[in-house]
Amino acid sequence: KSTTVPNIDTSLDNAEDDDEDDVVDLAANSLLNKLIRQSLIESSHRVEVLQKDPSSPLYSVKTFEELRLKEELLKGIYAMGFNRPSKIQEMALPMMLAHPPQNLIAQSQSGTGKTAAFVLAMLSRVNALELFPQCLCLAPTYELALQTGRVVERMGKFCVDVEVMYAIRGNRIPRGTEVTKQIVIGTPGTVLDWCFKRKLIDLTKIRVFVLDEADVMIDTQGFSDQSIRIQRALPSECQMLLFSATFEDSVWQFAERIIPDPNVIKLRKEELTLNNIRQYYVLCENRTDKYQALCNIYGSITIGQAIIFCQTRRNAKWLTVEMMQDGHQVSLLSGELTVEQRASIIQRFRDGKEKVLITTNVCARGIDVKQVTIVVNFDLPINQAEEPDYETYLHRIGRTGRFGKKGLAFNMIEVEKLPLLMKIQDHFNSSIKQLDPEDMDEIE
Ligand code: ADP
Repeated sequence: KSTTVPNIDTSLDNAEDDDEDDVVDLAANSLLNKLIRQSLIESSHRVEVLQKDPSSPLYSVKTFEELRLKEELLKGIYAMGFNRPSKIQEMALPMMLAHPPQNLIAQSQSGTGKTAAFVLAMLSRVNALELFPQCLCLAPTYELALQTGRVVERMGKFCVDVEVMYAIRGNRIPRGTEVTKQIVIGTPGTVLDWCFKRKLIDLTKIRVFVLDEADVMIDTQGFSDQSIRIQRALPSECQMLLFSATFEDSVWQFAERIIPDPNVIKLRKEELTLNNIRQYYVLCENRTDKYQALCNIYGSITIGQAIIFCQTRRNAKWLTVEMMQDGHQVSLLSGELTVEQRASIIQRFRDGKEKVLITTNVCARGIDVKQVTIVVNFDLPINQAEEPDYETYLHRIGRTGRFGKKGLAFNMIEVEKLPLLMKIQDHFNSSIKQLDPEDMDEIE
């Protein structure tokens, strides 16, 4: 058997951190989501709206024409391939484009069209003939700022003379330079510096202030306070918009401190369910045994694409090497890769270039690959208290009821971990059947 094992760095085998679960980095995850997103995420829920003035009429739009946008902006939207407003945009755009401007707090999961909405608002309020910053957008990281800037550039392709500037560390502006660009996107620290210390931006002239990814923002030390200092210096007629993918209490508290008299728009996330997933487990003695069981499953059912989850980087690497040596086309997605590398691995997998994706927890969220027919828990997700991690189990295996096709899930379980699996079964009130690895006929 030929052993073509490519450059997989197994040096971590001795590293101390390798038994650690990969830590989830909110900003990196958010960026990854943006890089791999190809289309809008749908939701069957209704948009919930809370108006600051409940007696004022509530407008929603079904087309972009209804918004009476500048010709060149409409052209930009259509050039991006947008036909009609997304669910959240239907409600948010009329508020965001209203006269006089209204403030807005909007929450919906990533991929539902928030960025496109506020970019549209910024572009429609900007005056190309005035050469100073008029719109200010705060983002949690340099990379996320760049992503938003790209959307401005694409949507504003036909808005000649409207330009974007990045207020991010490393973007050095020589002394005495005047910032003539109308839209500034940056991280709170650098923006603060540009406004107060270097006086490059006159906050009293800002018409639209956007705080994007509020949940990631408050997760970073100092960003909330810096954002609030910036907001305090804005004129009262400035439109203030805040977006977040999640809405824990802490985000709410922050949102309400920073956005005066807001309208609020929420779009709930589609719930994951295990209803249309058939779940099995195989009892194993050790890692080698688990691998054997995996091979048996592989040998007996036709598998479209599979995702295999391991608890540690070390296990993931070991399994990758084993499978490659057995001639499988697999790729390994793990926490030490850069976000760009991860995005490219997910893209290749989506394109069907590899049939198997092996990964650790870090990547359980956000990957939504419709053609995946089986999910394998090579290791059960367990938290630090050695208890089952129900949420992660659900994220790995669950599908949204509405779009989900039927799926198969396999758990490779050491005998001593069986009680944990039974807890999972009880928790979700769904049955996980035992499978004899020598006799796969039981799977339909
Ligand atoms: P969010 O900011 O909520 O993560 P985005 O604005 O980045 O969402 O939109 C997610 C994806 O959907 C992007 O690829 C974007 O280009 C696309 N998109 C946004 N609005 C529309 C629309 N109205 N029609 C079609 N695609 C859209």
